[in-house]
Amino acid sequence: MPELPEVETVRRGLEPAMQGARFSKVEARRKNLRFPLPRNFAARLQGSAVTGLGRRAKYLLADLSSGEVLLMHLGMSGSFRLAKQGTGETPGAFHHARSKDEKHDHLLFHMSSGWTVIFNDPRRFGFMKIVPRAELAREPLLRALGPEPLGNEFDAAMLAAACRGKTANLKAALSDQKIVAGLGNIYVCEALFRAHLSPKRRAATIADKGGKPNARAVALVAAIREVLADAIAAGGSTLRDHRQTNGELGYFQHRFRVYDREGERCTTPGCRGKIRRIVQAGRSTFYCPVCQH
Ligand SMILES: [Zn+2]
Repeated sequence: MPELPEVETVRRGLEPAMQGARFSKVEARRKNLRFPLPRNFAARLQGSAVTGLGRRAKYLLADLSSGEVLLMHLGMSGSFRLAKQGTGETPGAFHHARSKDEKHDHLLFHMSSGWTVIFNDPRRFGFMKIVPRAELAREPLLRALGPEPLGNEFDAAMLAAACRGKTANLKAALSDQKIVAGLGNIYVCEALFRAHLSPKRRAATIADKGGKPNARAVALVAAIREVLADAIAAGGSTLRDHRQTNGELGYFQHRFRVYDREGERCTTPGCRGKIRRIVQAGRSTFYCPVCQH
């Protein structure tokens, strides 16, 4: 499942091909992905220009000159490939290898920039939706989302207020899309590790009784921003790596400090702990029981 940094890397990779460009021709090779494609999908896109390419949590949002927004979600296995006169690249493919099998090329956007943007999705959990810009604020997929973890409104005061009085643990609180949008299992584990906070700690303990943030909340917000920024930066460098190695698996996963490292030595200087895996709400949590409290 692509996580937020991967989606942001995809957005950045698509920008030169799509930003300011028109959809010259749209080929939809299927009528449905995870959901049926919007009615008249190709016709509604053709001729309109992408005036901005944004992201909200794990959704890509292409603002169209028609006054509509194309909302795109990669699902489990979706990816975009860019092709131009025989050359190609796959932005954001740094964590999981992405399919290049042409039989899973479901949508082709031929852009006036000369690039063809190809949506490939073997398992078809990805989807696309066209929403009038004026209705975006009421869009059910976006309406319930909490603040962007890299946005200005997300800070220790906001996180502490959201966790005030919560009996749930920190892992559950950070996985809650209403508290912070799009973090995902990997980055919740990594952020808690960097903040030296146990995933089992009660969420309420990052706030005082009045809901004001304590030092834990400050450390946690810093760790969340840092781990996402590092991952996005690594995505960029892995993209350069990708062009050289022609689609080898990216290396950001080797930089995870706890995720998928059960039994390995903790990397915190001076800590002699070993990374442990537990299951919380059906998902694996990786943490160091010695330096995360
Ligand atoms: Zn440790």
